[in-house]
Amino acid sequence: MTIVSVAQVAYLAAAVLFVLSLAGLSKQATARRGNLLGMVGMVVAIGATIALALERSERNAGVTLALIVGVLLIGAVVGTHRARSVEMTQMPELIAVLHSFVGAAAVLIGFNSFLTEGRDAMHLTEVFLGVFIGAITLTGSIVAYLKLSARVKSSPLMLPGRHALNLGALAASAGMLVWFLSTASIVPLLIMTVIALAVGVHLVAAIGGGDMPVVISMLNSYSGWAAAAAGFMLGNNLLIVVGALVGSSGAFLSYVMCKAMNRKFLSVILGGFGGGGDAPAADAVEGEHTETSVSDTVEMLMGARSVVIAPGYGMAVAKAQYPVAELVERLRANGVVVRFAVHPVAGRLPGHMNVLLAEAKVPYDLVLELDEVNPDFKDTDVVLVIGANDTVNPAALDDPNSPIAGMPVLEVWKASQVVVFKRSMATGYAGVQNPLFFKDNTSMLFGDAKTQVEAILGAMPAKTGDKLAARA
Ligand code: NDP
Repeated sequence: MTIVSVAQVAYLAAAVLFVLSLAGLSKQATARRGNLLGMVGMVVAIGATIALALERSERNAGVTLALIVGVLLIGAVVGTHRARSVEMTQMPELIAVLHSFVGAAAVLIGFNSFLTEGRDAMHLTEVFLGVFIGAITLTGSIVAYLKLSARVKSSPLMLPGRHALNLGALAASAGMLVWFLSTASIVPLLIMTVIALAVGVHLVAAIGGGDMPVVISMLNSYSGWAAAAAGFMLGNNLLIVVGALVGSSGAFLSYVMCKAMNRKFLSVILGGFGGGGDAPAADAVEGEHTETSVSDTVEMLMGARSVVIAPGYGMAVAKAQYPVAELVERLRANGVVVRFAVHPVAGRLPGHMNVLLAEAKVPYDLVLELDEVNPDFKDTDVVLVIGANDTVNPAALDDPNSPIAGMPVLEVWKASQVVVFKRSMATGYAGVQNPLFFKDNTSMLFGDAKTQVEAILGAMPAKTGDKLAARA
């Protein structure tokens, strides 16, 4: 058996491991195993790729090996440092940056492939499409990074005639493809690259803050297709398979996110949603809010039979998941039925809350999704909204002019009492004021979520039975 055929078998094994990894990642209980399978697959894939590179190396194999090990080491050091230092709340930005790397790689591979390999129509088409998708992914991801890290405003950029601009750019790129195929000149490739880079900026800039979850999954999908295109250019089957897996799972995730936000995929991609509207200004006050204290909240909890916790981005910022998990244990030990209500776009990346709760070892069966929990709020005594805002905003249902109009939300206001943990009356990510805060059955517990939950724990009787005594 030659090295090439061993490497192809290894590629096949890696592809199977990646599919099993994705299957594992689809459920919290099997996610760790999924991750492990993915890591093993990646080691097999890298090993096979190095073996192939050495086999095909035209220059001295030692030089090739030194180059590969050198870049692997640099990548591993930078990657390990970033992975260890990144805050959980910065993950979406990190992911956006990583997507931009995939886009940049596809553009560079495209130009390299054009300059060094054959010029038949098939290959030229692969190069053109690879560079096109890669360039859009590159700049789109950079704009997403800037928006997610609040370096630029998250409101949508509404250029006049923006749909015509997008269509014009698409038509111009198609024209460049015809020119490119008929002349094999680098000029149309360069012009298309500039157009695609501009399209990437425009597409993501036109999307409002509220719709960013879909953009993240969409760019994830684009990065997959860019990788698949690179696979075609390099003649690397594994890259094609992995790119297609990432591309299609990202597309499916975009569909799920659109469904969760009640948006049409095409409308989100074409931009203009998720911002503006006639919503009240960010800090407009809509009425009187009621403030509560730690001791009143403890009393409320001690009198409750059922409690639902709706976590959001603020729980991640405060790193409050650990004391929250302890509070849940404490309440359950006292006979209270406690569940979590997780909105699909809570936090800043898909699955953000699930990751935090799993980190704090909250049992999976206490974590309910929006559809499961919404019918239960009317029978719930107390809802603790911990650092959530847009995902519990009744304006999404009541106000057709709201930037988040139509998005399903956790209908927490249907419970008997609601306590909102946040630091101020500031708005959430979508920049919309929240009428929940002014409802009669809502009270605000201001302060850092972690500090306040710890204070509640400190003020709460610890032992089972204390609650019954307190009730009596
Ligand atoms: P929001 O961003 O709507 O609100 C978070 C709230 O947390 C804020 O009101 C803030 O209020 C509060 N907060 C911040 N820090 C603290 C702290 N230390 N202690 C207590 N409270 C704190 O969060 P949601 O999770 O409800 O909604 C997510 C939003 O993000 C949605 O609009 C969604 O579309 C968007 N988004 C989601 C993505 C995803 O994939 N999940 C990706 C990109 C965007 P204050 O400052 O007063 O404390």
